[in-house]
Amino acid sequence: MGSSEVRSPGWDAAVRAAVAQGLVSAEQPVAGLLDVAGIRAAARALREAFAEVGADGAGVLHAFAVKAASLVPVLRLLAEEGLGCEVASPGELALARAAGVPPERIVLDSPAKTEAELREALALGVAVNADSREELARLDALTRPDMPAGSGRHPGSSLGVRVNPQIGGGSIGALSTATETSKFGVALRDEGARAWLVSAYLERPWLTRLHAHVGSQGCPLELLAEGVRITYELAEEINELAGRQQVDTVDIGGGLPVNFASDAITPSHRDYARLLAATVPGLFDGRYRLVTEFGRSLLAKNGAVLARVEYAKTAGGRRIAVTHAGAQIATRTVFAPGSWPLRVAAYDAQGRPKRGEPVTQDVAGPCCFAGDLVAVDRVLPPLAGGDHVALLDTGAYYFSNHFAYNSLPRPGIYGYVADAGDAADAVDAAGARGVRFAPVRTPQTLAELVAESGGGHAGALSALR
Ligand SMILES: *Cc1c(COP(=O)(O)O)cnc(C)c1O
Repeated sequence: MGSSEVRSPGWDAAVRAAVAQGLVSAEQPVAGLLDVAGIRAAARALREAFAEVGADGAGVLHAFAVKAASLVPVLRLLAEEGLGCEVASPGELALARAAGVPPERIVLDSPAKTEAELREALALGVAVNADSREELARLDALTRPDMPAGSGRHPGSSLGVRVNPQIGGGSIGALSTATETSKFGVALRDEGARAWLVSAYLERPWLTRLHAHVGSQGCPLELLAEGVRITYELAEEINELAGRQQVDTVDIGGGLPVNFASDAITPSHRDYARLLAATVPGLFDGRYRLVTEFGRSLLAKNGAVLARVEYAKTAGGRRIAVTHAGAQIATRTVFAPGSWPLRVAAYDAQGRPKRGEPVTQDVAGPCCFAGDLVAVDRVLPPLAGGDHVALLDTGAYYFSNHFAYNSLPRPGIYGYVADAGDAADAVDAAGARGVRFAPVRTPQTLAELVAESGGGHAGALSALR
């Protein structure tokens, strides 16, 4: 990415205010920013996109994939906008519950659910998608009518199976979940698998949903829609043989890719909803409830990492800005830069757009390994110590996929809104337009870091003699 597009003017006011208000400083040199109005708008656009093609009201649950932004205030905000949660671990379930998301709006997926997790989900009334034959056998045991008292299944907990339509992957192997040999779901095209699954449903009247999640970033929309079509046809086949609408819910997963190259939202949830309605019209004729599980496409463009430039140096003719945003927060970008390129916007010491004749430079992070780079050969105004950089489109996954390298603390995350009305035009003493922040996650303290690194057991090994 040679990059002439280095600005995202939508972030300028927030960056300026974050610097003026000290959210990023010499002491706290990196922070995450979330655009609250943008998140609300994305949730609304998702709901509207599916409503326009007939999936509205009680007929659809948009369950946000918690791993994309595992932050309780974000889950609460999305719940206010009518979304639920897709969770894949006891921790994510606890976050969804802490956000006040009711169990009937939570879906549990994961390829490695323990018996205790399944028991808890069933007791709460959370929907569960079994990932394998063995997991289905566990569900058999847990749903038997002669289960001991207190281990019962909440009537609201609806159960299904995740299928892998085995239709191939996208451009990022690690995120392609519907390949021939993917670790997820029941591989539908394997010899005998489809017949086995159909009879498994017919033998278990309590299996009422089917789930597929074909992939994520790097997967074309047509591939995602094809996975949904195959899943829908399986539901139709089961219902035909059952002689009733046994499968009443199709969970189509998430995976809408995000454009990391500019501010444009493309493809949109509307593009995808329209393609689905054209590819699988029967899914929208009112016979099925729909569950979606979008993550990245709801949050990515509504977040940015803001970091101070600590030093600027040259080495062998190479120009390097050493910043505080590296592998500890932009983990995927640093380790797989080809798959996860990010736009970097340059700001000065006061958080104003940086001026100056652009030059080619590398943007490095603080970690002690040579590959800790978030951008290579990027053309930006010359960065100097005290300046700032913003890593754009980082609202999804970057704030939840931190990496503890060099014991760098997890940065604070702040949501913001522009002040409404007159205040929006007012310029405060520091020159920042009216922007209000609220903490989403406070910066990890060194005391917390020491504690999670065994600080409470300092003498434990010495005692083992
Ligand atoms: C990760 C995941 C999602 C969300 O994927 P995005 O690409 O962020 O939309 C949805 N469903 C399942 C099962 C997942 O594992």
